[in-house]
Amino acid sequence: MTDEIKKSKLLGRKLSDEHKKNISLGLTGRKMSDETRKKISDGNKGKIRSEEFCKRMSVARLGKPTNRKLLTKEEKQERARLLARKYRLNNKDKIKSKHAKWRKNNPDKIKNWNEIHKYKKKNDPQIKEHYRLYNQQYEKSENRLEYLRVNKDKRLETKRQYYYKNTDDLKRKVSERHRKIRLEVINHYSNGTMKCKKCGESIQEFLEVDHINDGGRKHKKSENITSMYNYLRTNKFPEGYQILCANCNIEKLMLKAKLRSETGTKSQKYSHTYRQKLKLNVFSYYMTDGEIKCACPNCNENDINKLCLDHINNGGTAHREKLLEEGFVGNGIYLWVKQNNYPPLFRILCINCNKSLGNRGYCPHDTIK
Ligand SMILES: [Zn+2]
Ligand SMILES: [Zn+2]
Ligand SMILES: [Zn+2]
Repeated sequence: MTDEIKKSKLLGRKLSDEHKKNISLGLTGRKMSDETRKKISDGNKGKIRSEEFCKRMSVARLGKPTNRKLLTKEEKQERARLLARKYRLNNKDKIKSKHAKWRKNNPDKIKNWNEIHKYKKKNDPQIKEHYRLYNQQYEKSENRLEYLRVNKDKRLETKRQYYYKNTDDLKRKVSERHRKIRLEVINHYSNGTMKCKKCGESIQEFLEVDHINDGGRKHKKSENITSMYNYLRTNKFPEGYQILCANCNIEKLMLKAKLRSETGTKSQKYSHTYRQKLKLNVFSYYMTDGEIKCACPNCNENDINKLCLDHINNGGTAHREKLLEEGFVGNGIYLWVKQNNYPPLFRILCINCNKSLGNRGYCPHDTIK
């Protein structure tokens, strides 16, 4: 009997049920019924056999006791892990092609899995924590720094390509974000009213942040501020600012200049009156409906301190630069206009309408372009 079994083992065949029954005969001296065999095999499922039992088995099978060492559960797992690893290392290509084939045949499963994983990454606290720790480690790792160093140009190029492809989208996102921040800042400094503190102007496009104690330009320069709104928000809304409309802001400046001339030297006083007269003179050539007032029909601002000259066909910036080159500093545009015989290139607008038109391309009064 044992020889028969030995032979079948050598040939690599599986033991038949008959053979197994014979084994039981060798072990216990009686033939086991099918029912008992099933009962025992069900009961033994997942159980680890004792050393004694294995020895008896090997005697029944091979005719002599085995000298193989018995492994614990952990040792068995470790052995399986090592074997699997060895297999993976030796069959890289085979596994790769197998996986690729599976991916090709099961796109839905992959999509589904990705979605589930994405959701878990965001919402499962355990997985979230795992990724947080992993990223923390990865940020500092030498591997990453090395990778960044080696692929610097490549990464820059990828970034550039991405920017070219998504320029409009990115620009829109940035401007949206800026708009949101701007409204947040205005809301804070106007105590939620969203209005000019002085005149009560409520059109949001006209509102600006004003340094209560002046010195805004100097402050911006010293701190290298490109956006006042960003600066205020990141510095947690410091004191000393208020919300004014552009008109009231410029009026504040004008009144200050007037005060300075009144308390200043004789020449300061003279130059101030000269400039005022010149402005009035120029404005009298560009009147709207026979009056000195804003040309925007829905505005009607007529305080000369809040008015300025506007280039009808745009090109204001380029013209101003040209004037600077020619030596017309500050309000030199009025002198230039007078010297050039009041060309029909201008109209009178208030600072609100003018700034909005220049910065946004429209006036919220919705009547001029
Ligand atoms: Zn105002
Ligand atoms: Zn206006
Ligand atoms: Zn307007």
